[in-house]
Amino acid sequence: MNSLRLCEKLAREHSLREEEYAFLIDNRNEESARFLAREAVKVRKAVYGNKVFIRGLIEISNICRNDCLYCGIRKSNLNARRYRLTEEEILGCCKSGYELGFRTFVMQGGEDGYYTDERLSRLISKIKMLYPDCAVTLSLGERSRESYQALFDAGADRYLLRHETADKPHYENLHPAEMSFDSRMKCLRDLKEIGYQTGCGFMVGSPGQTSRHIAKDLKFIENFSPEMCGIGPFIPHRDTPFAHEKAGSAELTCFLLSVIRLIKPNILLPATTALGTVENDGREKGLLAGANVVMPNLSPVSVRKKYELYNNKICTGEESARCIKCLETRIKSTGFELSCERGDIIR
Ligand code: SAH
Repeated sequence: MNSLRLCEKLAREHSLREEEYAFLIDNRNEESARFLAREAVKVRKAVYGNKVFIRGLIEISNICRNDCLYCGIRKSNLNARRYRLTEEEILGCCKSGYELGFRTFVMQGGEDGYYTDERLSRLISKIKMLYPDCAVTLSLGERSRESYQALFDAGADRYLLRHETADKPHYENLHPAEMSFDSRMKCLRDLKEIGYQTGCGFMVGSPGQTSRHIAKDLKFIENFSPEMCGIGPFIPHRDTPFAHEKAGSAELTCFLLSVIRLIKPNILLPATTALGTVENDGREKGLLAGANVVMPNLSPVSVRKKYELYNNKICTGEESARCIKCLETRIKSTGFELSCERGDIIR
Protein backbone atom coordinates (compact mmCIF):
# COMPACT_ATOMS: atom_id res chain seq x y z
CA MET A 1 0.00 0.00 0.00
CA ASN A 2 1.03 3.56 -0.61
CA SER A 3 -0.09 6.33 1.64
CA LEU A 4 -0.62 9.02 -0.98
CA ARG A 5 -2.47 6.60 -3.28
CA LEU A 6 -4.84 5.89 -0.40
CA CYS A 7 -5.36 9.60 0.21
CA GLU A 8 -6.30 10.03 -3.44
CA LYS A 9 -8.62 7.05 -3.27
CA LEU A 10 -10.33 8.47 -0.19
CA ALA A 11 -10.79 11.86 -1.86
CA ARG A 12 -12.25 10.17 -4.93
CA GLU A 13 -14.41 7.44 -3.40
CA HIS A 14 -15.20 8.78 0.11
CA SER A 15 -14.52 5.33 1.45
CA LEU A 16 -11.64 3.01 2.30
CA ARG A 17 -11.41 -0.47 3.73
CA GLU A 18 -10.83 -0.73 7.44
CA GLU A 19 -7.23 -1.94 6.97
CA GLU A 20 -6.62 0.97 4.64
CA TYR A 21 -7.76 3.49 7.25
CA ALA A 22 -5.40 1.89 9.78
CA PHE A 23 -2.56 2.03 7.27
CA LEU A 24 -3.28 5.67 6.51
CA ILE A 25 -3.11 6.52 10.21
CA ASP A 26 0.03 4.48 10.93
CA ASN A 27 1.87 5.89 7.94
CA ARG A 28 0.72 9.47 8.09
CA ASN A 29 3.26 12.20 7.56
CA GLU A 30 3.25 15.90 6.77
CA GLU A 31 2.72 15.22 3.11
CA SER A 32 -0.36 13.03 3.53
CA ALA A 33 -1.77 15.34 6.20
CA ARG A 34 -1.35 18.36 3.94
CA PHE A 35 -2.90 16.56 0.98
CA LEU A 36 -5.94 15.44 2.98
CA ALA A 37 -6.42 18.87 4.56
CA ARG A 38 -6.35 20.54 1.16
CA GLU A 39 -8.87 18.10 -0.28
CA ALA A 40 -11.04 18.35 2.84
CA VAL A 41 -11.16 22.15 2.70
CA LYS A 42 -11.97 21.95 -0.99
CA VAL A 43 -15.02 19.68 -0.57
CA ARG A 44 -16.16 21.61 2.50
CA LYS A 45 -16.02 24.80 0.52
CA ALA A 46 -18.02 23.26 -2.29
CA VAL A 47 -20.83 22.45 0.15
CA TYR A 48 -20.71 25.25 2.75
CA GLY A 49 -18.59 27.97 1.16
CA ASN A 50 -16.50 29.93 3.65
CA LYS A 51 -19.00 29.63 6.48
CA VAL A 52 -18.22 28.43 9.96
CA PHE A 53 -21.38 27.82 11.98
CA ILE A 54 -21.60 28.69 15.65
CA ARG A 55 -23.59 26.79 18.26
CA GLY A 56 -24.27 28.15 21.74
CA LEU A 57 -23.37 25.50 24.28
CA ILE A 58 -25.36 25.54 27.51
CA GLU A 59 -24.03 23.13 30.13
CA ILE A 60 -27.25 22.51 32.00
CA SER A 61 -26.05 20.15 34.75
CA ASN A 62 -22.91 18.35 35.87
CA ILE A 63 -24.85 15.83 37.94
CA CYS A 64 -24.41 12.40 36.37
CA ARG A 65 -25.53 8.88 37.17
CA ASN A 66 -22.73 7.41 35.05
CA ASP A 67 -19.15 6.66 35.91
CA CYS A 68 -17.24 6.88 32.61
CA LEU A 69 -13.61 6.35 33.50
CA TYR A 70 -12.35 9.34 31.50
CA CYS A 71 -14.85 11.95 32.58
CA GLY A 72 -14.34 14.54 35.30
CA ILE A 73 -18.04 14.71 36.18
CA ARG A 74 -18.37 10.92 36.72
CA LYS A 75 -20.45 10.12 39.74
CA SER A 76 -17.51 8.75 41.77
CA ASN A 77 -15.72 12.08 41.63
CA LEU A 78 -16.56 13.47 45.05
CA ASN A 79 -14.41 16.54 44.41
CA ALA A 80 -16.73 17.78 41.67
CA ARG A 81 -18.88 20.65 42.90
CA ARG A 82 -22.27 19.77 41.48
CA TYR A 83 -24.74 22.22 39.97
CA ARG A 84 -27.89 22.22 37.93
CA LEU A 85 -29.21 25.24 36.02
CA THR A 86 -32.83 26.20 36.59
CA GLU A 87 -35.25 26.60 33.73
CA GLU A 88 -35.04 30.40 34.10
CA GLU A 89 -31.25 30.29 33.97
CA ILE A 90 -31.32 28.21 30.80
CA LEU A 91 -33.85 30.54 29.19
CA GLY A 92 -31.61 33.45 30.27
CA CYS A 93 -28.68 31.82 28.42
CA CYS A 94 -30.86 31.46 25.31
CA LYS A 95 -31.91 35.10 25.51
CA SER A 96 -28.39 36.45 25.74
CA GLY A 97 -27.29 33.93 23.12
CA TYR A 98 -30.03 35.01 20.74
CA GLU A 99 -29.02 38.65 21.15
CA LEU A 100 -25.43 37.68 20.36
CA GLY A 101 -26.61 36.09 17.12
CA PHE A 102 -26.84 32.39 17.98
CA ARG A 103 -29.48 30.40 16.13
CA THR A 104 -28.62 27.01 17.60
CA PHE A 105 -28.71 26.18 21.30
CA VAL A 106 -27.03 23.01 22.46
CA MET A 107 -28.14 21.77 25.86
CA GLN A 108 -25.51 19.42 27.19
CA GLY A 109 -25.18 17.77 30.55
CA GLY A 110 -24.55 14.74 32.66
CA GLU A 111 -27.27 12.10 32.89
CA ASP A 112 -29.18 13.94 35.61
CA GLY A 113 -32.45 12.27 36.65
CA TYR A 114 -33.96 15.66 37.47
CA TYR A 115 -34.36 16.28 33.75
CA THR A 116 -37.39 14.10 33.14
CA ASP A 117 -39.16 14.03 29.80
CA GLU A 118 -41.84 16.37 31.19
CA ARG A 119 -39.36 18.99 32.40
CA LEU A 120 -37.27 18.81 29.25
CA SER A 121 -40.25 18.84 26.91
CA ARG A 122 -41.64 21.92 28.61
CA LEU A 123 -38.28 23.65 28.36
CA ILE A 124 -37.77 22.70 24.71
CA SER A 125 -41.22 23.88 23.67
CA LYS A 126 -40.67 27.17 25.50
CA ILE A 127 -37.39 27.74 23.68
CA LYS A 128 -38.98 26.89 20.34
CA MET A 129 -41.92 29.20 21.06
CA LEU A 130 -39.66 32.12 22.04
CA TYR A 131 -37.13 31.52 19.26
CA PRO A 132 -38.89 29.71 16.41
CA ASP A 133 -36.01 30.46 14.07
CA CYS A 134 -33.55 28.53 16.24
CA ALA A 135 -32.51 24.89 16.31
CA VAL A 136 -32.40 23.02 19.61
CA THR A 137 -29.71 20.39 19.97
CA LEU A 138 -29.61 18.00 22.91
CA SER A 139 -26.57 16.22 24.30
CA LEU A 140 -27.90 14.52 27.40
CA GLY A 141 -26.66 10.99 27.05
CA GLU A 142 -28.56 7.73 26.84
CA ARG A 143 -32.34 7.73 27.19
CA SER A 144 -35.13 5.40 26.13
CA ARG A 145 -36.50 5.51 22.62
CA GLU A 146 -39.80 6.82 24.04
CA SER A 147 -37.94 9.62 25.73
CA TYR A 148 -36.04 10.58 22.58
CA GLN A 149 -39.36 10.55 20.73
CA ALA A 150 -41.04 12.77 23.34
CA LEU A 151 -38.23 15.33 23.18
CA PHE A 152 -38.32 15.27 19.39
CA ASP A 153 -42.07 15.84 19.48
CA ALA A 154 -41.50 18.76 21.85
CA GLY A 155 -39.36 20.37 19.14
CA ALA A 156 -35.75 19.20 19.54
CA ASP A 157 -34.02 19.11 16.16
CA ARG A 158 -30.66 17.52 16.74
CA TYR A 159 -28.97 15.13 19.18
CA LEU A 160 -25.30 14.62 19.90
CA LEU A 161 -24.29 11.28 21.37
CA ARG A 162 -20.70 10.30 20.80
CA HIS A 163 -20.32 6.58 20.31
CA GLU A 164 -16.93 7.00 22.10
CA THR A 165 -15.40 3.99 20.31
CA ALA A 166 -16.74 1.53 17.76
CA ASP A 167 -14.79 -1.35 19.32
CA LYS A 168 -16.72 -3.19 22.01
CA PRO A 169 -13.77 -4.37 24.15
CA HIS A 170 -12.29 -0.87 24.00
CA TYR A 171 -15.68 0.57 24.98
CA GLU A 172 -15.65 -1.73 27.99
CA ASN A 173 -12.21 -0.48 29.01
CA LEU A 174 -13.45 3.10 29.03
CA HIS A 175 -16.72 2.48 30.88
CA PRO A 176 -17.92 0.70 34.00
CA ALA A 177 -19.68 -2.67 33.71
CA GLU A 178 -23.14 -1.07 34.03
CA MET A 179 -22.72 0.71 30.71
CA SER A 180 -22.92 -1.15 27.43
CA PHE A 181 -21.67 -0.68 23.93
CA ASP A 182 -24.85 -2.21 22.56
CA SER A 183 -27.15 0.24 24.29
CA ARG A 184 -25.00 3.18 23.14
CA MET A 185 -25.33 1.94 19.57
CA LYS A 186 -29.05 1.32 19.97
CA CYS A 187 -29.51 4.89 21.17
CA LEU A 188 -27.79 6.19 18.04
CA ARG A 189 -30.00 4.07 15.78
CA ASP A 190 -33.12 5.21 17.65
CA LEU A 191 -32.17 8.87 17.32
CA LYS A 192 -31.66 8.55 13.61
CA GLU A 193 -34.87 6.61 13.02
CA ILE A 194 -36.88 9.17 14.97
CA GLY A 195 -35.62 11.86 12.64
CA TYR A 196 -33.06 13.81 14.63
CA GLN A 197 -30.05 15.24 12.87
CA THR A 198 -27.74 12.90 14.75
CA GLY A 199 -24.14 13.29 15.83
CA CYS A 200 -21.74 10.57 16.92
CA GLY A 201 -18.05 10.89 17.69
CA PHE A 202 -15.08 9.78 19.73
CA MET A 203 -12.06 10.94 21.66
CA VAL A 204 -8.69 10.86 19.94
CA GLY A 205 -5.97 9.23 22.03
CA SER A 206 -8.23 7.75 24.68
CA PRO A 207 -6.40 5.22 26.88
CA GLY A 208 -5.81 1.94 25.06
CA GLN A 209 -6.86 3.33 21.68
CA THR A 210 -4.98 1.94 18.66
CA SER A 211 -5.07 2.81 14.98
CA ARG A 212 -7.22 -0.34 14.50
CA HIS A 213 -9.80 1.12 16.85
CA ILE A 214 -9.80 4.43 15.01
CA ALA A 215 -10.13 2.58 11.70
CA LYS A 216 -13.28 0.97 13.12
CA ASP A 217 -14.57 4.38 14.19
CA LEU A 218 -14.06 5.68 10.66
CA LYS A 219 -15.80 2.68 9.12
CA PHE A 220 -18.64 3.14 11.59
CA ILE A 221 -18.98 6.80 10.60
CA GLU A 222 -19.00 5.78 6.95
CA ASN A 223 -21.82 3.28 7.49
CA PHE A 224 -23.88 5.22 10.03
CA SER A 225 -23.58 8.42 8.02
CA PRO A 226 -24.29 10.88 10.87
CA GLU A 227 -25.23 14.49 10.18
CA MET A 228 -22.65 15.64 12.75
CA CYS A 229 -19.51 14.19 14.27
CA GLY A 230 -17.68 15.44 17.34
CA ILE A 231 -14.07 14.43 17.77
CA GLY A 232 -11.53 15.92 20.13
CA PRO A 233 -8.41 14.83 21.93
CA PHE A 234 -8.77 12.90 25.19
CA ILE A 235 -7.46 15.05 28.04
CA PRO A 236 -6.86 13.54 31.49
CA HIS A 237 -8.76 14.76 34.52
CA ARG A 238 -6.96 14.55 37.87
CA ASP A 239 -9.87 12.96 39.74
CA THR A 240 -10.44 10.02 37.38
CA PRO A 241 -8.79 6.59 36.99
CA PHE A 242 -7.14 8.01 33.84
CA ALA A 243 -5.47 10.90 35.70
CA HIS A 244 -1.98 9.84 34.62
CA GLU A 245 -2.74 8.85 31.05
CA LYS A 246 -1.39 10.86 28.12
CA ALA A 247 -3.55 13.39 26.29
CA GLY A 248 -4.42 12.87 22.63
CA SER A 249 -2.70 15.08 20.07
CA ALA A 250 -4.01 17.99 18.03
CA GLU A 251 -2.02 16.63 15.10
CA LEU A 252 -3.87 13.29 14.92
CA THR A 253 -7.20 15.00 15.66
CA CYS A 254 -6.73 17.33 12.70
CA PHE A 255 -5.65 14.47 10.45
CA LEU A 256 -8.85 12.63 11.36
CA LEU A 257 -10.98 15.74 10.84
CA SER A 258 -9.74 15.77 7.24
CA VAL A 259 -10.47 12.06 6.80
CA ILE A 260 -14.00 12.42 8.22
CA ARG A 261 -14.70 15.45 6.01
CA LEU A 262 -13.69 13.38 2.99
CA ILE A 263 -15.81 10.42 4.08
CA LYS A 264 -18.85 12.68 4.25
CA PRO A 265 -18.39 16.04 2.50
CA ASN A 266 -21.55 17.64 3.95
CA ILE A 267 -21.02 16.55 7.56
CA LEU A 268 -21.15 19.21 10.29
CA LEU A 269 -17.83 18.89 12.02
CA PRO A 270 -16.86 20.96 15.05
CA ALA A 271 -13.40 22.19 15.95
CA THR A 272 -13.90 21.31 19.62
CA THR A 273 -13.01 23.06 22.85
CA ALA A 274 -10.80 20.08 23.73
CA LEU A 275 -8.83 20.71 20.53
CA GLY A 276 -8.40 24.34 21.57
CA THR A 277 -7.28 23.15 24.99
CA VAL A 278 -4.43 20.86 23.89
CA GLU A 279 -3.05 23.55 21.61
CA ASN A 280 -3.62 27.29 21.72
CA ASP A 281 -4.47 27.43 18.02
CA GLY A 282 -5.99 23.95 17.92
CA ARG A 283 -9.40 25.12 16.75
CA GLU A 284 -7.91 27.19 13.93
CA LYS A 285 -5.92 24.15 12.86
CA GLY A 286 -9.13 22.11 13.02
CA LEU A 287 -10.92 24.54 10.71
CA LEU A 288 -8.01 24.42 8.30
CA ALA A 289 -8.20 20.62 8.36
CA GLY A 290 -11.88 20.47 7.42
CA ALA A 291 -14.01 21.37 10.47
CA ASN A 292 -16.82 23.90 9.96
CA VAL A 293 -18.50 24.37 13.34
CA VAL A 294 -17.45 25.96 16.63
CA MET A 295 -19.37 25.70 19.87
CA PRO A 296 -18.67 28.59 22.20
CA ASN A 297 -19.90 28.42 25.75
CA LEU A 298 -23.11 30.21 26.72
CA SER A 299 -23.28 28.81 30.26
CA PRO A 300 -23.33 31.34 33.09
CA VAL A 301 -19.72 32.13 34.02
CA SER A 302 -20.48 31.11 37.62
CA VAL A 303 -20.83 27.41 36.63
CA ARG A 304 -18.32 27.18 33.79
CA LYS A 305 -15.44 25.88 35.88
CA LYS A 306 -17.67 23.22 37.40
CA TYR A 307 -18.47 21.59 34.07
CA GLU A 308 -15.00 20.14 34.02
CA LEU A 309 -14.87 17.00 31.88
CA TYR A 310 -11.07 17.38 31.70
CA ASN A 311 -8.48 19.67 33.25
CA ASN A 312 -7.38 23.08 31.91
CA LYS A 313 -10.51 23.59 29.82
CA ILE A 314 -10.36 26.93 28.00
CA CYS A 315 -12.94 29.74 27.99
CA THR A 316 -14.17 29.11 31.54
CA GLY A 317 -13.64 32.65 32.82
CA GLU A 318 -14.93 34.69 29.92
CA GLU A 319 -18.29 36.34 29.30
CA SER A 320 -19.98 34.81 26.23
CA ALA A 321 -19.81 38.09 24.31
CA ARG A 322 -16.03 38.24 24.73
CA CYS A 323 -15.73 34.57 23.83
CA ILE A 324 -17.45 35.22 20.53
CA LYS A 325 -15.27 38.20 19.69
CA CYS A 326 -12.20 36.09 20.35
CA LEU A 327 -13.55 33.23 18.24
CA GLU A 328 -14.53 35.55 15.44
CA THR A 329 -10.97 36.85 15.27
CA ARG A 330 -9.66 33.29 15.29
CA ILE A 331 -12.03 32.22 12.51
CA LYS A 332 -11.13 35.24 10.38
CA SER A 333 -7.45 34.43 10.82
CA THR A 334 -8.10 31.16 8.96
CA GLY A 335 -9.75 32.96 6.04
CA PHE A 336 -13.24 31.67 6.91
CA GLU A 337 -16.21 33.67 8.14
CA LEU A 338 -18.46 33.22 11.13
CA SER A 339 -22.04 32.50 10.10
CA CYS A 340 -25.03 33.19 12.33
CA GLU A 341 -27.36 30.95 10.34
CA ARG A 342 -29.08 27.93 11.89
CA GLY A 343 -26.64 25.85 9.92
CA ASP A 344 -28.58 22.69 9.16
CA ILE A 345 -26.94 19.99 7.10
CA ILE A 346 -27.09 20.60 3.33
CA ARG A 347 -28.23 17.42 1.64
N1 SAH B 1 -23.31 13.04 29.14
C1 SAH B 1 -23.51 13.30 27.76
C2 SAH B 1 -22.75 14.47 27.19
C3 SAH B 1 -21.67 15.11 27.97
S1 SAH B 1 -20.01 14.59 27.79
C4 SAH B 1 -23.23 12.06 26.97
O1 SAH B 1 -22.99 11.01 27.52
O2 SAH B 1 -23.29 12.13 25.75
C5 SAH B 1 -19.58 15.07 26.14
C6 SAH B 1 -18.36 14.38 25.58
O3 SAH B 1 -17.18 14.85 26.20
C7 SAH B 1 -18.29 12.89 25.80
O4 SAH B 1 -19.06 12.22 24.86
C8 SAH B 1 -16.80 12.58 25.70
O5 SAH B 1 -16.46 12.09 24.40
C9 SAH B 1 -16.15 13.93 25.95
N2 SAH B 1 -15.26 13.84 27.12
C10 SAH B 1 -15.56 13.40 28.36
N3 SAH B 1 -14.45 13.37 29.14
C11 SAH B 1 -13.43 13.80 28.38
C12 SAH B 1 -12.03 13.96 28.58
N4 SAH B 1 -11.46 13.64 29.75
N5 SAH B 1 -11.28 14.44 27.56
C13 SAH B 1 -11.84 14.74 26.39
N6 SAH B 1 -13.15 14.58 26.11
C14 SAH B 1 -13.94 14.12 27.09
